[in-house]
Amino acid sequence: MQDRKQELADNAAEVREALALAARRAGREPGDVTLVAVSKIKPASDVRALAEAGQMDFGENYVQEAVAKQEELADLDLRWHFIGGLQSNKAKFVAGKFALVHSVDSAKLARALDKKALERDTVQDILLQVNIAGEVQKSGVAAEELPALAEEVMGMEGVRLQGLMTMPPFFDDPERARPVFARLRELKEALEKQLGTSLPHLSMGMTGDFVPAVEEGATLVRIGTRIFGARAPKG
Ligand SMILES: *Cc1c(COP(=O)(O)O)cnc(C)c1O
Repeated sequence: MQDRKQELADNAAEVREALALAARRAGREPGDVTLVAVSKIKPASDVRALAEAGQMDFGENYVQEAVAKQEELADLDLRWHFIGGLQSNKAKFVAGKFALVHSVDSAKLARALDKKALERDTVQDILLQVNIAGEVQKSGVAAEELPALAEEVMGMEGVRLQGLMTMPPFFDDPERARPVFARLRELKEALEKQLGTSLPHLSMGMTGDFVPAVEEGATLVRIGTRIFGARAPKG
């Protein structure tokens, strides 16, 4: 148990160091990049151990698993990020219960979150997930549909648009993901002009590709494997 705690703390510290180096290389401040530790499929005890080492932002993909961990760890002051595919009929489990929902990719889902957030007298911060490479099996709104979706979301009082998220295709060479990250930044800048407001966040970069993501402007990186080790397939 103690060994596991040390291992997790060491891994997170190494990731933080690599993030800081990448930020500095790009002329950015390390403090501008938040590490979201992706704890999906990993036990609540791992989350608790990391929290004791000062890691407070955690990302989860599956609603039931996330809610169970939130309940088990309710004594901790954690910031939970919902980063997985979400059906609008599950919005009730998410709205108002996560610091940020990264994976909003349809007006239907945004409307469901908006409705539940308003019922709970709160505002849900969200990102729009963009499918930049146009991969058919990946979720995310197409870049061409982003302006209309963003416009609609801006009219909702129960959700607040904070930026964009993307998940590039898997490449052996992380440099190949760089154009995808650069494109997401350009889309955010175009959206800021269109909407006349600034959007603080770009959620991009995972274990295999966080260095180019930070160099291209990520403010949130979502890292699982590099911190927690390999995941068993979800069964
Ligand atoms: C699982 C997952 C991650 C973390 O992936 P790693 O390669 O383990 O770092 C990040 N983002 C999303 C959306 C994920 O589903």
